[in-house]
Amino acid sequence: MIQLHDLQFQPYLTPEEIQITVRTLALQLAEDYADKNPIFVGVLNGAFMFLSDLLKNFENNCEVEFAKMKSYEGTSTTGEVKIDLDFPDLTNRHVIVVEDIVDTGNTLLKINELLQQKKLKSLAYCSLFLKPEVYDKDLEINYVGMAIPNKFIVGYGLDYNGLGRNLPEIYQLKSD
Ligand code: 5GP
Ligand code: MG
Ligand code: MG
Repeated sequence: MIQLHDLQFQPYLTPEEIQITVRTLALQLAEDYADKNPIFVGVLNGAFMFLSDLLKNFENNCEVEFAKMKSYEGTSTTGEVKIDLDFPDLTNRHVIVVEDIVDTGNTLLKINELLQQKKLKSLAYCSLFLKPEVYDKDLEINYVGMAIPNKFIVGYGLDYNGLGRNLPEIYQLKSD
């Protein structure tokens, strides 16, 4: 059990369980994007650890960029998505957007709106976690590491009001 700010969290996934999921995604991506030199676009801050491990397991040429987005305050979505997108030229490139977790999908829809305006060669979405009970958008998440229940999680890049990103494992909000 750990305490972050006012909340208690219980262990949910070990580093080993996370790495198996990440490696499986990386192998799939390496197969689908062999010789395509894709650009991975990590959605900050949450995706930094996942993207780092994902790319260490992606054994083909690729490039990496980051987009800064924010829709959560505390443990629930604010609905409003703040964005800081400052990309190089993505024209005619294969782009893979990398998220830590997709919940409502508001963040992804916003980034999709922006990327649809660019003349990409292809666009795909990859998320380590998906909450299928919450996600109700039509946009397809092409690569999903793990479907999880609708409970707030922290660790491995994911935070609760700034804390918990450094944890190598995943914790779930304690249900009492
Ligand atoms: P969405 O826009 O899909 O509702 O949420 C996207 C962002 O909200 C995620 O990229 C993540 O940063 C944050 N988020 C959603 N669910 C969780 C969760 O269970 N734990 C944490 N720490 N962040 C979450
Ligand atoms: Mg995120
Ligand atoms: Mg957050």
